[in-house]
Amino acid sequence: MTDVRAKQAVFPPAKLFIDGEFVDAADGATLDAINPTDGRVLWRAPCAGVEDVERAVRAARDAFDQSKWPTMSAASRARIVRRFGELVWERREAIALVETLNNGKLYRDALTDDVGAAAGALQYFASWGDKLCGETLPVRGDFLTYTLREPLGVVAAIVPWNFPTSLAAWKIGPALVAGNTVVLKPSELTPITALMLAECARDAGVPPGVFNVVPGLGSVAGDALARHPSVDLVAFTGSPRTARALMRASSESNLKKLSLELGGKSPQIVLADADLDAAAEAITWGIFSNKGEVCSAGSRVIAHRSIYHSLVERVAERASKIRVGDPRDNETQMGPLVSLRQLESALGFVTRAIDAGARLVVGGERDTQGAHGEGFFLRPTVFADVREGSELEQEEVFGPVLACLAVDDEDAAIRVANGVRYGLAAGVWTKDTAKAHALARRIRAGVVWLNTYDRFDTAAPFGGYKESGWGRDLSSHAFDTYTQSKCVWTAL
Ligand code: NAD
Repeated sequence: MTDVRAKQAVFPPAKLFIDGEFVDAADGATLDAINPTDGRVLWRAPCAGVEDVERAVRAARDAFDQSKWPTMSAASRARIVRRFGELVWERREAIALVETLNNGKLYRDALTDDVGAAAGALQYFASWGDKLCGETLPVRGDFLTYTLREPLGVVAAIVPWNFPTSLAAWKIGPALVAGNTVVLKPSELTPITALMLAECARDAGVPPGVFNVVPGLGSVAGDALARHPSVDLVAFTGSPRTARALMRASSESNLKKLSLELGGKSPQIVLADADLDAAAEAITWGIFSNKGEVCSAGSRVIAHRSIYHSLVERVAERASKIRVGDPRDNETQMGPLVSLRQLESALGFVTRAIDAGARLVVGGERDTQGAHGEGFFLRPTVFADVREGSELEQEEVFGPVLACLAVDDEDAAIRVANGVRYGLAAGVWTKDTAKAHALARRIRAGVVWLNTYDRFDTAAPFGGYKESGWGRDLSSHAFDTYTQSKCVWTAL
């Protein structure tokens, strides 16, 4: 892979994207996008206020109500979305470099898991364009009765900072293909690449007003979208705390629909007969890839007591060898956390876990070596003997911190696995496949990986049980969120 350390990043216009044009924020406000590798300001992003959100929603509303977008042939819409995806793919190196500088994720991961995945998702959803259809219904009486699958209207996509382009594409793709119009609000921490997506959309021929981008603060721009009476759906990925605010905003405005992809505290259950090396490898990268800033991170190991110590040793050995550093460097295996706040939050979990009696096996401190001085680096951290019910066992760190505990049997493993408020993902490690499938049924989570971890595909639905949210991203299931069904009766 090319060394991108000497490459200059090319930024999009420092403007909002509304009604097909790059425009200044009404009050000229900006927000600083920070490079977490050195703690310095990377770029001054435009910051949308309430007035800008109003303009963007009006543009999206008018495009839905008055333009041909929702009524043009599904194949024509799909062609434009497919071209959108192709342009993201063609520009992936430029977008990935900006993502790496702004988020701290490895360049190679940005290229494949984020920007490449975004391009793939747009193209995948485009391929569904002319396959969405209603049904003819066998009703009683002399009627022809059928359903139409129709778009909802204006979709506000509110996304977090950990996979800024792919998570946006998971929402933009099905929303646009189904005929909705979109206002995208990226996280205030990673506001840049959403504007690069806007350039791709414009160049692909997405009509004015159909796709708008308003970087801004959650409490201002996000809240204005969530309360707006002309927004029909908020498609959200982020924290349960914000999800609750969105539900309040919906209930206090127009009862708009919500889809919620939230956090997780996903268990990795390891039985006595598991392939320990394979499990240790997958557990290591299941928590330390993307610096643990992954909603589906396997942040709890629940291992049978007979293999527990051996497993923890193997994971800790791998963790201690992870090369932390500049995410643009091909040799680096883990970059900095996204922000100082995120670093301090993770360090707070570490301190409290030690106070609560958990055993720190490896890591647990900020990495300030050499050039890392000002960056937000945390050493990969493994805790053993974490108590069931303790904070580290229950709460999402959203950083590179793993909690391990031992159990005596499968019932205890299931009790611990299900004993948190989340239910996003889970892993099971055993050579007994029948047992693996039986356990998969007992785990309350939206995704279960058996003898593997963190596999994603556009064809496979992703989403949570319990407080990990509702609605499914990816696959044909995504269209359940972005369409509604109309029933038409005709007297014969
Ligand atoms: P967050 O909830 O703080 O922010 C997410 C988005 O919501 C941002 O764009 C933010 O500006 C906006 N926002 C914040 N307050 C708002 C408000 N009052 N009204 C409207 N919008 C508001 O989450 P985060 O810190 O950016 O992301 C981390 C969280 O996201 C973690 O909990 C993680 O597990 C979750 N996540 C889930 C998935 C998934 O698919 N399930 C994927 C990635 C991240």
